[in-house]
Amino acid sequence: MPSTTLLAVLTSLLLLPGAMSQTRADDVHGSGMGGGARAAVTVSLAPTVTIEGGTPTTRTDALHATERYVSNGYELPDLVVRLHDDERGCEGHRGLFHFADGKPVIDLCFGEEFLALHELGHAWEYFNLDDTDRHAFQRAVGAPTWNSHDVPHKFRAVEIAAATMADGLLSIPATPGSNWNRTCVWFEALTGGPPPRQTTEATAAVGTGWSSSPRGEASVLRALSDLGRSVLGPAG
Ligand SMILES: [Zn+2]
Repeated sequence: MPSTTLLAVLTSLLLLPGAMSQTRADDVHGSGMGGGARAAVTVSLAPTVTIEGGTPTTRTDALHATERYVSNGYELPDLVVRLHDDERGCEGHRGLFHFADGKPVIDLCFGEEFLALHELGHAWEYFNLDDTDRHAFQRAVGAPTWNSHDVPHKFRAVEIAAATMADGLLSIPATPGSNWNRTCVWFEALTGGPPPRQTTEATAAVGTGWSSSPRGEASVLRALSDLGRSVLGPAG
């Protein structure tokens, strides 16, 4: 077992039967339009995140990605994050957000920060947006569909939403320019505020001594402990 230990246990998921009926095959890797599960599942800045499998490093990285959301005010549901050694755990994808036994689950088959933030972005939008929000974002980015499988993956608004959340929350500073400007516009369209991610310009100007190294496990756990709770499952 890694040195991470059980910090606390959330009392229970407020998962009502209605939420179970929201679980559809097309929820895999993002929501379909017509969600509305947010009334049935609690989101908070203190979600219980159960990490299954992985190494101490990848488990810490997954927690760190979660912390990027909640420490910046983006509420998440209680989640199970399963860390896999290869793509077999993700149905051939790099990562997946879906439901298992009616509970939100993220499977990660690669250890990149962007991927973890992207799949968490699917969880965030599923439980925090309604269809009006989704239509508005789809229009803002000019996507032809929210999540039609007739349209290539990268052109679906649901994927642009998850990628935008990941882009705006990465711990590596962004390079100023047109790509970053577009991310800022889309992030604001999605969340109502600017992205928390810093830029290289800003970090140089204030001399924050930013480091590209992920924060240590103890630091991440301390931050999560301050914010709420985290349950760590056994290492795989
Ligand atoms: Zn995705």
